[in-house]
Amino acid sequence: MTAPDRRAALDALAAEVRACTACRLHTGRTNAVPGEGDPMTEVVFVGEGPGVNEDRLGRPFVGRAGDLLVRLLASIGWQRDDVFITNVVKCRPPDNRDPEPAEVAACAPYLHRQLTVLDPALVVTLGRHSMGRFMPGTTITRAHGTSAPVDPATGAAHATVFAMYHPAAALRAAAVEAASFADVARIPAALLEARRLRDHPAAASPVPAPQRIGSAPVDAQPQPSETDQLTLFT
Ligand code: URA
Ligand code: SF4
Repeated sequence: MTAPDRRAALDALAAEVRACTACRLHTGRTNAVPGEGDPMTEVVFVGEGPGVNEDRLGRPFVGRAGDLLVRLLASIGWQRDDVFITNVVKCRPPDNRDPEPAEVAACAPYLHRQLTVLDPALVVTLGRHSMGRFMPGTTITRAHGTSAPVDPATGAAHATVFAMYHPAAALRAAAVEAASFADVARIPAALLEARRLRDHPAAASPVPAPQRIGSAPVDAQPQPSETDQLTLFT
């Protein structure tokens, strides 16, 4: 799909979300928060649901958690406009409670359709609710900072998932914040690997043996100098 086609499809979806009454969260919203970003991006960040600031502005991650997300992205040289940012539920759960299973289920088709349009290489989950959609059967403590293949049934048919803590959790605990900066630093390498799997699915396993030059093994992983400069626009 071309960029204008993707933009039009995402705009149409956003209009549907703003008019949606499929679960009871619509009764408490000021604004639905469909999500936003670059329609041609390779990377989609998925949070949990809008908070009070997001509800007021109709945009994802614009409060304190959003400020931290922007700092995390900046630490790898990315800006929020480079990626697409959305949530599992598009309307604010009252009192910042967790979204209920029925609400997540009612809202799931929107995320599914966004992912189908965006067809990302990498889905970055923020927090355990989002992780549960893409990397089931694990815990955030175990899985943060790691990647796994995404079930095509999510809508992201050719993607790898990379799990992170929720930025709001990082705001509450310095150790989680430190882990979040360590995790985000792994995203460029995760994206390179996600691209490789996408382009050469048969090469998924086993991992090719390291090349050798003379007798010295050459690490098959990209070197830091390379990943530091990785941009989304290659
Ligand atoms: N927390 C989320 O999970 N999503 C937002 O958009 C903002 C805060
Ligand atoms: Fe519709 Fe999702 Fe909002 Fe529920 S949370 S009303 S399903 S857009």
